[in-house]
Amino acid sequence: MTQRLNLTVDRIKCDGRGLCAELLPELIRLDDWGYPILAAGPIPEHLLPLAQRAVEDCPVLALAIRRAEAVKG
Ligand code: SF4
Repeated sequence: MTQRLNLTVDRIKCDGRGLCAELLPELIRLDDWGYPILAAGPIPEHLLPLAQRAVEDCPVLALAIRRAEAVKG
């Protein structure tokens, strides 16, 4: 078993200003209304510091990093 970290967004809280996409364009792009679309799958290890920063800087705390358990194949 290994633990993977995924980025999640609370679409109720998010106000769609797009700061997260500026901080982490590798994993977040914006839809036509300015709301984030997250890349599928776990956060690559080298992007974890940037993902953490995006989570901390979200003005409405809508972004989170969550652990998802996965079976090693
Ligand atoms: S920074 Fe937060 S509020 Fe702004 S678009 Fe990203 S998730 Fe939404």
